[in-house]
Amino acid sequence: MAVEDFVYAARPARVIFGSGTSERLPEEVARLGARRALLLSTDAQRGHAEALAMCLGDVAAGIFSGAVMHTPVAVSERATEMARSLGVDVIVAVGGGSTTGLGKAIALRTDLPQIVLPTTYAGSEMTPIIGETQDGIKKTRTTEKVLPEVVIYDIDLTLDLPAALSGTSGMNAIAHAVEALYARDRNPVVSALALEAIRALARSLPIIARAPRNAGARADALYGAWLCGMCLGSVGMALHHKLCHVLGGSFDLPHAETHTVVLPHALAYNAPALPGVMERLEAVLGGEPCRALQDLGRAIGAPGSLADLGMAESGIEQAATIALANPYWNPRPLERDAIRDLIARAHGGALPLVDRRTT
Ligand code: NAD
Repeated sequence: MAVEDFVYAARPARVIFGSGTSERLPEEVARLGARRALLLSTDAQRGHAEALAMCLGDVAAGIFSGAVMHTPVAVSERATEMARSLGVDVIVAVGGGSTTGLGKAIALRTDLPQIVLPTTYAGSEMTPIIGETQDGIKKTRTTEKVLPEVVIYDIDLTLDLPAALSGTSGMNAIAHAVEALYARDRNPVVSALALEAIRALARSLPIIARAPRNAGARADALYGAWLCGMCLGSVGMALHHKLCHVLGGSFDLPHAETHTVVLPHALAYNAPALPGVMERLEAVLGGEPCRALQDLGRAIGAPGSLADLGMAESGIEQAATIALANPYWNPRPLERDAIRDLIARAHGGALPLVDRRTT
């Protein structure tokens, strides 16, 4: 298949990857010309922030350990106030998407540079996207101002990520790469990253489910998650992300688990419009892609249906209506009956309905 026309914009970020790389934090702070750092974490991960503060010595000006899910504006304003009153010149965030989100929110308000040490597979550190919550409403925007300058991937920081969270966080990352392959603004560079990412995560997640401290599998998964974050930060997403957004927002379903359940069905819906993509996915997943993704979800011990996640059957119709309310781009046109059927199958934990005849 010949290369199609495309536009590709590289996003500037310095990435350090390996085991024990946290120790390189002081030299990275110095490299930015910074002298006073504010460290960020969740309450549960304050220990990670304290260890980094020790490593930074006098350069560590303070720790804000109040990061929480969905980046509430009130928390961001408190942390920004702390950054201003301490006169810091760099933000160091250690944690998952919630802590990275807080760092981005401070950067949005202050233009301070960010160094991120990710401890999950969410991938936020590679995107210029920020979602902030106020009065129960989450608003997402894209601006280069929030893109972190430096990302230190330290495999050791992920060894204690609980097995269940590792699995669904990894599946959530895979979903970014899968949708990148058929994004409207797809390009061959991001597609190559996406396939490499899916390969790395598909081989490592089942190992992590059995042996969470397996260093080789953790390295593969973190590497895959980095690439998935680049996919999410580079190209637009489609039906799968829209459905998960609707299900998470309107039915209060857990984010990563919902992605894990829905992905095989959303891909099956789009499959007839993606002949070339399905073949490439088959090559990296080692079998029919929709079934392979569902099997991967089972192998990591994730919940198998939206019903298992607590969604009532009566929500299926409503979810289809909301998902179709604001039209958006998708490789296969949005057909109400087929989308309702997709949600019903995900709700019941059925096999994905795979029909690859091109539409
Ligand atoms: P999270 O950051 O909320 O972390 C979940 C819990 O796991 C927290 O209590 C955290 O302290 C703990 N934890 C994280 N890493 C750990 C580790 N290695 N060991 C032990 N405990 C650990 O979860 P998440 O899934 O990483 O992030 C979810 C948030 O990120 C959501 O708000 C989502 O919207 C956002 N997100 C944003 C983007 C973006 O591009 N803006 C991308 C992906 C996710």
